[in-house]
Amino acid sequence: MHRADFGECRRLVVKIGTSSLAHETGKLNLGMMEMLVRQLADLHNQGREVILVTSGAIGAGAGKLGLRRAPRTIPEKQACAAIGQGLLLHMYEKFFAEYGITVGQVLLTREDFAIRRRFLNAQNTLRSLLSFGVVPIINENDTVAVDEIKLGDNDHLSALVAGLMNADLLVMLTDTDGLYTADPRRNPEARLIPWIGEITEDIEKVAGAAGSRLGTGGMITKLHAARIATHAGVTTVIARASLKDVLPRILAGEELGTVFRALPRRMERRKQWIAYGAPVAGRIVVDAGAARALREKGKSLLPSGVVAVEGSFETGQTVSIVDSEGREVGRGLVNYSAAEIERIKGCRTTAVTDILGYQPYYEEVVHRNNLVIEP
Ligand code: GLU
Repeated sequence: MHRADFGECRRLVVKIGTSSLAHETGKLNLGMMEMLVRQLADLHNQGREVILVTSGAIGAGAGKLGLRRAPRTIPEKQACAAIGQGLLLHMYEKFFAEYGITVGQVLLTREDFAIRRRFLNAQNTLRSLLSFGVVPIINENDTVAVDEIKLGDNDHLSALVAGLMNADLLVMLTDTDGLYTADPRRNPEARLIPWIGEITEDIEKVAGAAGSRLGTGGMITKLHAARIATHAGVTTVIARASLKDVLPRILAGEELGTVFRALPRRMERRKQWIAYGAPVAGRIVVDAGAARALREKGKSLLPSGVVAVEGSFETGQTVSIVDSEGREVGRGLVNYSAAEIERIKGCRTTAVTDILGYQPYYEEVVHRNNLVIEP
């Protein structure tokens, strides 16, 4: 979608970060929330479906407790989230109510994207809310999600939601104008990049990794999120939250922020789930021939191409396939456990039954239908 077509956007996901929602003191920035809600309410009144992904629970909880520093340990963060999420929702509800709009709180965890049944569940809930004319307000369920199972940042969450809901547009609102050619705080030559057709390694290099005190995301996490969303067919914009009327202006096609164009072919939902939803349980290192066959010829991965296996995983889990330089070739569902692959790596397919002592269900270690190249 080009800027000129943004006005046609029917369903949009808007993400706002902690750095925009909280003051330096940690207390909520009510002016900002009000400004955001007013814009969202207007978009809603125009007949668009609006989904809000908001951070700020941990920050608001820390503010309420009067903590002078950001919470550090996991239980501290979880406690702050428990306190802050209620506060956050209370304020959103109040502001949206002024415009006669009902909101619904949806707290998601990684498992809601990793387990297919839950993925479909979440989708159904969100669809129902939208069909009732409600604005879903989403955050990660920080109080129950510990680090190992966390999505971690809401940029990621918003991209998954945008893919899950087939949104037309994802707008990530933050405290910078978009992606710059260099760090604008340090380099006066830095220029804003208005349009990105494809996220290349060079683009990732310019992103740097700066974040603010309370939020978790920096530009890198936004780029990763933009990659996920654009692969899912969702055009993505990064723009400054505090710009007056930023959302209606983006939808009017004004040249604000950085736009990441959606890939022309939306990745199938199942492949999105393989690439970004399911946690990666291990790695398979492949030789140069196999890497080429996977990348360029659309082949499946056979035991003969496997050089090494890392981690302990079972059949059906998601693994990352990397080349000998450690660059990711793809992600896919394995047909063998890590222990089995250890035994059959480098072997010809015809030898596998003899080595294992039983006939495996599949010849391929990862079948091409269950494989996403360079996610
Ligand atoms: N879920 C976290 C919160 O509400 C924020 C995550 C993020 O900053 O991206 O505090």
